[in-house]
Amino acid sequence: MLIDTHAHLDFPDFASDLEDVLRRAEEADVKRIITIGTSLESSRRAIELAEKYPSVYAAIGVHPSYVLEAEDDVITPLRELAQNSRVVAIGETGLDYHRLPSEKVSKEEQVQVMTALRSETDEEIEAQIRDGAYKSKQASLFQQQLDLAVELGLNVVIHQRDAWLDTLEIIRSYTGKVRAVFHCFGGSLDEANEVLALDHLVSFTGIVTFKNGAAVRQVAAEIPLWKIMIETDCPYLAPEPFRGKRCEPAYARIVAEAIGAAGGVSVEEIAEASTETAEQFFRFNRI
Ligand SMILES: [Zn+2]
Repeated sequence: MLIDTHAHLDFPDFASDLEDVLRRAEEADVKRIITIGTSLESSRRAIELAEKYPSVYAAIGVHPSYVLEAEDDVITPLRELAQNSRVVAIGETGLDYHRLPSEKVSKEEQVQVMTALRSETDEEIEAQIRDGAYKSKQASLFQQQLDLAVELGLNVVIHQRDAWLDTLEIIRSYTGKVRAVFHCFGGSLDEANEVLALDHLVSFTGIVTFKNGAAVRQVAAEIPLWKIMIETDCPYLAPEPFRGKRCEPAYARIVAEAIGAAGGVSVEEIAEASTETAEQFFRFNRI
């Protein structure tokens, strides 16, 4: 049996055939699926799905890329939503500096800004201020959600992209209070060991099957089996031979097979160890 620890079943990609998707997961022995909230609205939908389908559970949270659109107070509603017995974790939350506001502005806007401001230096300062505000908003929402997780005794699903040092600095201050999984892990073995040393976990997606995924595959193969969880991050990151198509939870099996093959371990061993890890990490069977 396998657990897909990170799926986005509430995304429109699954609106028309979710029951077929869940049946294929069942056939692939993917017995549990955690659907991950990315906003308050998405978290509510995640819970609805978890209430409707016995194999589906919900994680609730606000994704760092959505902080500018987020409500002023996300914690009060998240706290209420967390009372639902199908909620097994807080997340996804974290830091994502991949596209900062200064990189998001279009060419025309840049020209306008350039004309409006007297010099390029002014523009740079302006961009730094905007990016700084964006980053601190992300950090604030990340910390608020970590605090909520501590309060509720739930673990946390972390999204980190191009923000390694800041993420580690924040998570380090929660050591011993909350456990986290660094989802879609793509870092080095040293970085993985840093996460494991703080008693957190890493999880891997279909990237481990990609031709250009050799480094991640190697890291996955070198980490102790019981520190790993399996995820699809569907509808994104479909493993080979489905790369580029819609991903779905059934493919968690392909991810497990690829990690097993890289480390010379059977898929059964990967399945058993990662399932036990996920059973301990997520709060299934809450009363
Ligand atoms: Zn995700």
